[in-house]
Amino acid sequence: MEIRLHGRGGQGGVTCAKILAAIYAREGKSVQTFGDYAGERSGAPVRAYTRVEDGRITNRNKVYRPDHLLVLDPTLLGDEVVTGLKPGGTLLINSPEPLETHRARFGAFRVAVVDATSIARAHGIGTRSVVIVNTTIAGAWAKVMNVPLDRVEEVYRDLGLLSNFPAARDAYESVRFDGAPRAADATAADAAAPPAELPKVEPLVEHRSSPPTPLKTGSWRTQTPVYTEHLAPCSAWCPAGNDAIGFVQALAREGEEQAAAVLGGTTPLAAVCGRVCPAPCMEGCNRAELDGAVNIRGIERWIADHVPVARRRPAACADSKRIAIVGSGPAGLSAAYQLALLGHAVTIFEGEDQLGGVLRTGIPTYRLPREVLDREIDAILALGVEARCGEFLSRERLAALAEEYDGLILATGLQKLRTLAVPGADLVGIEQGIRYLHRVNLEGGAPLSGEVFVLGGGNTAMDCARSALRSGADRVVVAYRRTRKEMPAIREEIEEAELEGIEIEELVAPVAFHGDGRVAEIEFAEVDLGEPDESGRRRPLISERTFRVPCDHVLLALGQSGDLSLLPEGWELAEDGRLVAPDRAPVAYAAGDLATGDGTVTHAIGSGRRAAGLLLRALGFEAEVFERPDRSKAVPVTDIRLDHFGRAAAAADRHLPVPERLNGFAEVNRGLADGLEAHRCFSCGHCTECDTCLVYCPEGIIRRRTERGYEVDYSYCKGCGICVTECPRSAMEMQSS
Ligand code: FAD
Repeated sequence: MEIRLHGRGGQGGVTCAKILAAIYAREGKSVQTFGDYAGERSGAPVRAYTRVEDGRITNRNKVYRPDHLLVLDPTLLGDEVVTGLKPGGTLLINSPEPLETHRARFGAFRVAVVDATSIARAHGIGTRSVVIVNTTIAGAWAKVMNVPLDRVEEVYRDLGLLSNFPAARDAYESVRFDGAPRAADATAADAAAPPAELPKVEPLVEHRSSPPTPLKTGSWRTQTPVYTEHLAPCSAWCPAGNDAIGFVQALAREGEEQAAAVLGGTTPLAAVCGRVCPAPCMEGCNRAELDGAVNIRGIERWIADHVPVARRRPAACADSKRIAIVGSGPAGLSAAYQLALLGHAVTIFEGEDQLGGVLRTGIPTYRLPREVLDREIDAILALGVEARCGEFLSRERLAALAEEYDGLILATGLQKLRTLAVPGADLVGIEQGIRYLHRVNLEGGAPLSGEVFVLGGGNTAMDCARSALRSGADRVVVAYRRTRKEMPAIREEIEEAELEGIEIEELVAPVAFHGDGRVAEIEFAEVDLGEPDESGRRRPLISERTFRVPCDHVLLALGQSGDLSLLPEGWELAEDGRLVAPDRAPVAYAAGDLATGDGTVTHAIGSGRRAAGLLLRALGFEAEVFERPDRSKAVPVTDIRLDHFGRAAAAADRHLPVPERLNGFAEVNRGLADGLEAHRCFSCGHCTECDTCLVYCPEGIIRRRTERGYEVDYSYCKGCGICVTECPRSAMEMQSS
């Protein structure tokens, strides 16, 4: 039996021929196998041969009249490839196309088809750019030729290829072909087409020389490298939709002016977010796998502290609309910014005397200095946004606004505070944490003394505790019903709180307060953790085991929810944030925590931006609507060539020493010392013109363009994929040519 294989350099055709020989050698046959190639590189057509005999094999020619043929690359298929194949001989093709397609073309043979490339790719055989199909297609061959699968497995074990056996098994199971395998019984006279006459070899002529001719690729190449842009995880992870890789790279390569301009496209609150954001972008950062995530939050702050980001001028709008925004937290401010930039007339209604929402009423100044907040709010107002503070709207006033204005955005946050229904909850000295923070932030401070217990585990709890410590408390304890690990507060806030001397009491729940008019003791029950609840956290189970502790003040930080009682009669909040009314539908959307309950500043910014887009669409504009990117599309760390990057520890934010912090409300986190941290960015999925492709190209056919980027001389490119494999940041890919 004579078998011929056709493949391309890089697909492993010669090894495939060897595997077939090994299979028959195990049956006790004589076998012979060899490849027919010279210096071909990846992509060049390659042939390989296998002979199988009961007796001794004496023929050492290539195989010109094969009984069977394997084609490892469907782009090679053609009359030349099937030349000499005997009628009825098996033609096994690696192809994603259906059997019928090939049968119609090669009816004289017994056609078998398997999508070996997809199978091998699914099993990760080969490199990112070149899939090696040999061990996969050999599995299909075994099925077509009735070779038992366990024999194939034995051969793979012998050859050290066992890790590829699952792919062979998949091919064995998925190959499609007609009829039972038959012996190759055709004679030379039946051959479909006689092999072409071999070209005559000219005698060597001495002393003849000619300059080397450049070898164009011709039909060899089946895929070409192209420069592409892929989604970076930092950008994919940002709920505000910031182009995180864009501003980090802009800082690294062009400077802070350009970086600020990138930030200003999506957010007016970069200096705020650079201070209070939990930084999901850093959770996504691929550099975490090497030596620590890039300090993207620190970079954002550094840029925004040096160059204000909201410096764009409003566009002229011929059909400018009047839009009312209720609530001036990050969601309302973000919506106002986007709408004003597009030339609409925006009025913000705010119940408090100043704009900012929780950024002003909740987050203390040691985390967010008010001059930073004011600076960013002023830039939004400078776009022509009108602010009407001190107007806490009723539901009637809201209904009237919907009539008065072309569109309405409701961004009132979470106004309902959770209370504790336990004995003694109305004793003096027990206060809602949100109210306490309001006093700290807006009413000239809120001194207290003695032992303060803060009940809860979120950001409000940490802000209450750290503010209480700065306001005169002797001892502050945060009591939480789960463990530290499950606390919803930002990790750094918990760490900073503990560093400052705040104690954390885990697994306790208050069941009563005791005191004579004023709280003097809290009675806690010990908590056991049960099965996980809907949030995925283990459910707290309050036990009968109780104990009492003395205390002077209690601050409740038990959570908040949206207050929909503000909605006028019949209005409802739909899932997409639209506010629906039964009769005359207002063009109105909810945004921020009220709409999503996400509970972070960055989410509120993204939500405000999205609501602005949706509102404009509803008003008939062709507006862009912000959609959160699909994280699964971001460049995974496995596509980053970590070996191309030197190790460098992340630049840390500078902090005020602990003893200096507790004297007042001075800002604790002082940010980065410089912007050099931006240079640690891998630039995942975005070309930085690092020249790696150019350096590694074996043909030397990648050139720098005069302006930016590179060009590949495709007439000489063999599609070897080395440039793609070596690209450190996955900014190239192979595409079918
Ligand atoms: P808000 O910021 O709540 O703003 C709503 C505004 O609407 C308020 O100004 C309110 O006065 C106004 N309003 C309400 N009703 C009316 C009405 N009827 N008429 C007129 N005005 C009205 N997130 C982080 O990412 N990082 C943090 O460090 C952080 N710390 C936090 C600390 C505390 C103490 C709290 C409470 C929250 C914290 N959060 C933090 C969460 C974050 O602040 C919120 O998710 C975010 O502010 C929500 O923005 P928003 O615009 O939806 O609403």
